[in-house]
Amino acid sequence: MKPYDFSYTRATSLSHLYDLFDEYGDGLKILAGGQSLITTLNMRLSSPEMLVDINDLSEISSISLTDNIVSVGALVRHAEIQESNDIKQHVPLLKLAIEHVAHAAIRNRGTHGGSIAFADPAAEIPACVLALNATLVLASREGERRIAGSDFFKDLYDTELRENEIIVAIEYPIAKKNTVSAFREFTRRKGDFATAGLALNGELDGKVLQSLSLVFFGVANTPVLARQVADLIVGEPITPSLIEKAQNELANEIEVIGDLYSSEEMKLHLSKHFLKQALEELQV
Ligand SMILES: Cc1cc2nc3c(=O)[nH]c(=O)nc-3n(C[C@H](O)[C@H](O)[C@H](O)COP(=O)(O)OP(=O)(O)OC[C@H]3O[C@@H](n4cnc5c(N)ncnc54)[C@H](O)[C@@H]3O)c2cc1C
Repeated sequence: MKPYDFSYTRATSLSHLYDLFDEYGDGLKILAGGQSLITTLNMRLSSPEMLVDINDLSEISSISLTDNIVSVGALVRHAEIQESNDIKQHVPLLKLAIEHVAHAAIRNRGTHGGSIAFADPAAEIPACVLALNATLVLASREGERRIAGSDFFKDLYDTELRENEIIVAIEYPIAKKNTVSAFREFTRRKGDFATAGLALNGELDGKVLQSLSLVFFGVANTPVLARQVADLIVGEPITPSLIEKAQNELANEIEVIGDLYSSEEMKLHLSKHFLKQALEELQV
């Protein structure tokens, strides 16, 4: 299938983009890496009047480090995340996760902001945004606003992003000395979106987690933060009986939705299995 007709232009600056927002309203679509959008155009799932290519906006295409934050520009490619020493050192969960995103060719074009804006519930990066308690920086002509990752994902492919806004950066808190991370996913083929997965981030003191975020993805319409399960684990020594209790609580807490390829039962089974594996990894 071929896309519906559309016009194309390149934004030369953020203020140029805001002019275009004013002119085209909901007829405008931002084009970043194009790795998701072009497919939706070709399948006629999306029919913008004007496609605005943001690839010339160098102000949103780098990774920077301050005392307590790693700021990732929205246009940073998945491959750059994979290669970045700052990410490896200060945002270890993201480094673990990015290895699972698609294939090299797609990672060379696909962008950090694009993945978050697209909000595929089986994607790795949105899950990390939640697990790492990241802050999204959204910009429009009115200025910037910051929103917690946990408030951003509303429903299937639906987010808090407004029609006249662009994601400009994602701010990740720098890992502490006792930060621990684990990442697990099951895919039908290497590089596919996850059937089910887990992103874990926490602070470990001996055998006891002082804080914990558990995010399951590929199992519902958005990535899911399992707060009750985390509360049960925090402050307790990680033992086989605690792990079993946590697995049982997971079944109560998250509402798993099956899809065309995998039943609800299979996704829940995988989620429990990954929870056990990840916690066992921390027991060492
Ligand atoms: C074969 C294949 C396999 C893939 N496998 C995986 C996978 O395993 N895991 C995974 O996570 N992803 C996967 N992807 C998707 C890939 O990661 C995409 O790069 C990503 O989802 C979208 O990023 P993009 O830069 O390509 O965005 P685009 O395709 O350009 O845009 C996607 C959407 O986001 C909007 N958008 C883009 N940037 C911004 C911004 N800064 N602000 C506001 N809105 C914006 C666009 O308007 C559009 O609606 C796969 C893609 C393909 C083709």
